[in-house]
Amino acid sequence: MSTVTVLSLLVEEMRNGRIKVVDLTQPLGPDTPVIGLPPIFAPSPGFSLSEISRYNDKGPGWYWNTITLGEHTGTHFDAPVHWVTGKDLSNNTLDTIPAARFIGPACVIDVTKETAVSEDFLLTREAVMAWEGTHGKIPPGAWVLLRTDWSKRLSAEKFLNVKDDGPHSPGFHKDCSHFLAYERDVLGVGVETVGTDAGQAGKFDPPFPNHGIMHGAGKFGLASLRNLDQLPATGAVVIASPLKIVDGSGSPLRVLALAPA
Ligand code: MN
Repeated sequence: MSTVTVLSLLVEEMRNGRIKVVDLTQPLGPDTPVIGLPPIFAPSPGFSLSEISRYNDKGPGWYWNTITLGEHTGTHFDAPVHWVTGKDLSNNTLDTIPAARFIGPACVIDVTKETAVSEDFLLTREAVMAWEGTHGKIPPGAWVLLRTDWSKRLSAEKFLNVKDDGPHSPGFHKDCSHFLAYERDVLGVGVETVGTDAGQAGKFDPPFPNHGIMHGAGKFGLASLRNLDQLPATGAVVIASPLKIVDGSGSPLRVLALAPA
């Protein structure tokens, strides 16, 4: 089949509803939860919006706003330069990553049962290999998405889940991150939680291993995804293209998946 035919077929299948567009994005607003760090570290501001004009004397015919936010707010993309392990890689910033690397097949690993039992659940390399036994080997250039149903925790309190000993949320065992980065050559991983490491990962050895390993390997992260329950285990395509911020370490984005309806 020629490339022109494939693209025409894609458009036709979207028009006739056999391919659906699934929005994997949280709404972005003042109530969007932001990751909390220990107070010795600088915090990231959440989202705020202030009006420039709204059909008034400041601009009679138009409405627009100024937005202020940390790069890593809401549904967002982590570039390799975000972590010290990726700081010297080539093409590690938002403006230098080749755009083709924003699009890839989705491998959705459903750990909702495990997460319901343990908020601190970590995906292991062995569990990924068991998933591959059922669904096939993760192809190079895939987005691996960890389905936890965590995004169904709609209040910031339940979503961030901070207790006396810090936040609790699921993530990846470091061996799993290493396996995905180096033995499966993924584009990156996506999660429903506020960041791509587990809530308690600041206490791991090394701290925040998924960030360190993935970004050190030039891989990406997607945080605060939702609607992963609308995707098949395989067969969807994810489009995750961040803003082209010069020297940017990450940005909010609209993550879309094309999936069989
Ligand atoms: Mn981030």
